[in-house]
Amino acid sequence: MRDFACPNCGQRLAFENSVCLSCSSPLGFSFGSRTLVVISDFAPSDAAGRLGGIVDGLRYRLCDNLHVARCNWLVEIADDGVDAARRGEGGAESEGSASKPERRRSRWRLRRRSGRANSALVAPAPPAAESGPALCESCRLTRTRPNDSDTGGLEAFAEAETAKRRVILELAELGLPITDREADPRFGLAFDLLSSATDQVLTGHQDGVITLDLAEADDPHREQLRVEMGEPYRTLLGHFRHEIGHYYYTVLVDDEARERFVSLFGDPDADYQAALERHYADGAPAGWEADHVSSYATMHAAEDWAETFAHYLHIRDTLDTAAAFGFAPAGAALDRPQLGRAGFDRIIELWLPLAWSLNMVNRSMGHVDLYPFVLPEPVLEKMRFVYELCATTSARLGAAPRQQPAA
Ligand SMILES: [Zn+2]
Ligand SMILES: [Zn+2]
Ligand SMILES: [Zn+2]
Repeated sequence: MRDFACPNCGQRLAFENSVCLSCSSPLGFSFGSRTLVVISDFAPSDAAGRLGGIVDGLRYRLCDNLHVARCNWLVEIADDGVDAARRGEGGAESEGSASKPERRRSRWRLRRRSGRANSALVAPAPPAAESGPALCESCRLTRTRPNDSDTGGLEAFAEAETAKRRVILELAELGLPITDREADPRFGLAFDLLSSATDQVLTGHQDGVITLDLAEADDPHREQLRVEMGEPYRTLLGHFRHEIGHYYYTVLVDDEARERFVSLFGDPDADYQAALERHYADGAPAGWEADHVSSYATMHAAEDWAETFAHYLHIRDTLDTAAAFGFAPAGAALDRPQLGRAGFDRIIELWLPLAWSLNMVNRSMGHVDLYPFVLPEPVLEKMRFVYELCATTSARLGAAPRQQPAA
């Protein structure tokens, strides 16, 4: 994660802030530029370019999930009617917003369509909604959420969406493709976020759809499961990173990569139900720590991949954050990636001492270790494979015109 500062006053900000704690400027996260920007009422004519870090409040506002999901991501104002109304009520029209280029308008209409498609799935749709909610790149990937009357469910939903935004940003930082179900109705990425307290829900992944049990947002419940399952680590963020690993198996492991996958992880088509029953009956085989990152990873090749993928995301994001705050070299940051074998070696070379020292810092505060895992050589070889698939895919897409998620 990056380090953010208020473009108006320089105050340090967190990724989740929607208002500057020092100067009270309204803020929004721009997914395109990956920065927190000030949303200005003064509508400077060259807001995006000339005045860095400030956007025109007539053209951008916060995502419609601001309250329900505590979402602080920016959306372009899509509805010309709303736009006109806002200009009318504001009184101070600016040259910039009055002479919007036609190209920009047509892109807005495209986005409106995607917003409307989403709203049909997010229940309940407002009756007179012509354009549907304007949702950001992260929120529009969510297909199902708790009902508006389910206050407990909505609180958990906001927690989950907050973790999910962090994951979506990391995927973009890694240069991985994010294809929604509008672009690929059969296998595109979507999220169903519902609670097992009110619905029949099992956390998992199927053909691009990630289901998350929102009961996991409840700390006592999740901690109880963590202890029962003998896991050293269990968080919402970890669940998303694991499930998105299953999704990226379908995206990254093609026929060419399959042979190497099988040699590292085993047969991805082995009987899953039998593996599941064996795992819960017998537990992980003795000595699993020598070649698996977690006991759950021993259950099936698909779970080993998802666990390894999740750990790669844990490590990349934490290293990136450390670099942003000056306790890892700047070269470790996601925006300055190194390719090839040396790139992965470098990540691990930086990660091991960092993880060790952060564990010791946590112990100084009486907390459990930040990263309570060991990474033996066979696990590192699996993770290197994840790294290489991500790096080659990102390099291939980087050479093509930049793909905007869900646009
Ligand atoms: Zn400020
Ligand atoms: Zn949003
Ligand atoms: Zn899994």
